[in-house]
Amino acid sequence: KLLLEVKDITAVIAETKQEILKGISLSIFEGEVHVIMGKNGSGKSTFSKVLVGHPDYEVTGGSVVFKGENLLEMEPEERSLAGLFMSFQSPVEIPGVSNADFLNMAYNARRRKLNQPELGPIEFWAYVYPKLNDLKMREDFLNRNVNGGFSGGERKRNEILQLAVLGADLAILDEIDSGLDVDALQDVARAVNGLLTPKNSVLMITHYQRLLDFIKPTYIHVMENGKIVKTGDISIAEALEREGYKALSDR
Ligand code: ADP
Ligand code: MG
Ligand code: MG
Repeated sequence: KLLLEVKDITAVIAETKQEILKGISLSIFEGEVHVIMGKNGSGKSTFSKVLVGHPDYEVTGGSVVFKGENLLEMEPEERSLAGLFMSFQSPVEIPGVSNADFLNMAYNARRRKLNQPELGPIEFWAYVYPKLNDLKMREDFLNRNVNGGFSGGERKRNEILQLAVLGADLAILDEIDSGLDVDALQDVARAVNGLLTPKNSVLMITHYQRLLDFIKPTYIHVMENGKIVKTGDISIAEALEREGYKALSDR
């Protein structure tokens, strides 16, 4: 079943009207893992932000249908409640609001949407604790202030924890592998694999091939200058590993 259908999307930076996305099309079915690779600056993060409705960008053409609905007409929060996940980071520390409070609130919002009863703090703790364990995160992590001085690796684990807690039909993961050592990478990859079912899908963005040693993609897309210039299977990543992006785009 088709989950996300992107047709010929173009997008500009809202402030300067500079065009960044120059016509992207992509279809994601349930159970698929799509990977977007590409050089720095090719527009990967912009594409993921446009999908979640980031206010820095304006869509100037094309269409996006998510679970049969016009995604572009939805507010960012509605997109997330509809089952589209992208990690969120509070831009500032919020005094007195712990990471656990923050996750609990976000999770309850999603449960309301699904007509499920909200979880109180104790029930939520019982729900989240096993997930914390899986990610090898310490309990005190939940008691810290939102955004309270996480290291790069902790932030990545926190993104995956958010995903594990909230659940999603389509998770967009932008460079979850950047700055992780191999152990941390494996933990994060194991967590992502654990979340994959025949029903839900992942759109992963990565600059490097090594994440693909642990998470098996259905399709790999290569982006260049705001467009997808190549789509294929894992052999694309292998070619990139051998020859680099230049060899691929010159082909
Ligand atoms: P990638 O994630 O592939 O490295 P990005 O999507 O972050 O690429 O950026 C694509 C291009 O658009 C880059 O040249 C970047 O500098 C530019 N860009 C993206 N967002 C902004 C912004 N908000 N303001 C100015 N330039 C931007
Ligand atoms: Mg970049
Ligand atoms: Mg990026």
